[in-house]
Amino acid sequence: MNEILVIDVGTSSVRAGALNQEGSLHDVISVPTLPSTPSPGLVEVDGDLIAKNAIELANKVIESVGSVSGVAITNQRSTSLVWDRNTGELVAPGIGWQDLRTVITCIMLQEQGLRLSPSHSGPKLQSILDDFDKERVKELCFGTIDTWIAWKLNGQLGDQALHVTDVTNASATGMATSDFSKWDQDVLAALNIEASILPEIKSSSDFMGEARVLKGSPPIIAIAGDQQASLVGQACNKPGLAKATFGTGGMLDQFVGPIRPEFMDLGPNGTTSFAAYKLGSSPTAYEVEALMLSAGSAVEWLRDDLGIISSSEESDELASQSADNSDVWFVPALLGLGTPVWDFGARGTFVGITRGTGRAELVRGVLEGIAQRGADMVEAAEGDSQLSIPSLRIDGGMSANKTFVQALANACQRPVEVSKEREATTIGAAFLGAIHLGWYGGMDEISSNWSPKEVIEPNAPSRRERWLEARSKSLKTIPELSAITF
Ligand code: ADP
Repeated sequence: MNEILVIDVGTSSVRAGALNQEGSLHDVISVPTLPSTPSPGLVEVDGDLIAKNAIELANKVIESVGSVSGVAITNQRSTSLVWDRNTGELVAPGIGWQDLRTVITCIMLQEQGLRLSPSHSGPKLQSILDDFDKERVKELCFGTIDTWIAWKLNGQLGDQALHVTDVTNASATGMATSDFSKWDQDVLAALNIEASILPEIKSSSDFMGEARVLKGSPPIIAIAGDQQASLVGQACNKPGLAKATFGTGGMLDQFVGPIRPEFMDLGPNGTTSFAAYKLGSSPTAYEVEALMLSAGSAVEWLRDDLGIISSSEESDELASQSADNSDVWFVPALLGLGTPVWDFGARGTFVGITRGTGRAELVRGVLEGIAQRGADMVEAAEGDSQLSIPSLRIDGGMSANKTFVQALANACQRPVEVSKEREATTIGAAFLGAIHLGWYGGMDEISSNWSPKEVIEPNAPSRRERWLEARSKSLKTIPELSAITF
């Protein structure tokens, strides 16, 4: 019975798989589980469907491996659900992390000195509770996706139910104290939320409760937000080590250590600070996170809207036909720009097009622009953490694109280590469970086992000045949106 079941609820799919004691992830299966967009700016998730898919996949994995020693959960962070604690029924549609319905609330809270953003769970929860009177609220429970899945796996109701989250997920709600160990009474008071509706905050690697609905009632032994699980999956446990995930969007997370960076909300270079993980009773480790709002979505735009490539993979071959970007720059600000400038009014911009610019140069310009955004994130994280990133570890769909990875190494002027696991999130959550079971002595052992699929060294100059000129041209395209800061 030397297997850990891992359940990974991402933004577009639910996955499950098993980690064996040799450290390999296998029997990975997934089912697309997309959020809905009932109107522009609103993003909702179907919590019942997510739980149903997660349990079905978990049962299939257990059937394949026989039995499991424990369950690890990783999840899209901040997405918020509310249910009745006595019946376990959801009382409202879940609000997705990308949902923008709380923009006005956040601007008003800012005027009261409270810096929360629409991606935080706190304002989302407040907007759900607005529809219920005080007495009814006493019967309700709040949770992010991890909490909901743990509750459903445990299968009990009322006082017996399992109502937990971990420090990494708590840190992305905007409602936890600065060390993320407790709920912050001042924030709760400003949002008019009672602490009793919130889950208990546990370590990321710990006994949480039993998954009674699964065969053998295995213990739930790990919970972590997706980016933090990917940080663990890419063995970043020493100050400075960082990973970047290039999927639809891009996120860079840099391990900082046991002392949280001094800034509270947004660092001077536009990063945020979260819990990286907490293992059992050891102190919480912290990280900084940089965000690019569009990465692979710019490749999707080339594919689905412009039709100049027929698959995302084709962008590699086409871009490689051009020796460099021919001084054609694309700023992938399709949804605005995140770290370091946080300009929601920035827009996608091509610079340097001539009569001779063809498909190859355009595609190359897009890949190089995403790579330069990667370098923006590296510089911002280094500035805010005051720790240098020796080499950048990467995962996500775009990590398969050789032209992109070379452009990233050049833009960052440092080696890029491509992860063996395209989605390191899943294996990272399982590693946290394995530490609880004593399969590994701790993160050091996981880190000593790290070996990337390949290491790409820079082979050309970074051309950062040209990039920064191009980036500046994309800013403040929609001034009203550029005026908004979170
Ligand atoms: P997510 O987890 O955000 O859903 P994935 O990590 O699965 O995303 O990556 C999917 C994204 O990566 C898509 O936007 C797709 O366009 C892009 N992508 C996938 N493969 C490649 C590739 N070989 N070259 C460029 N982009 C790619």
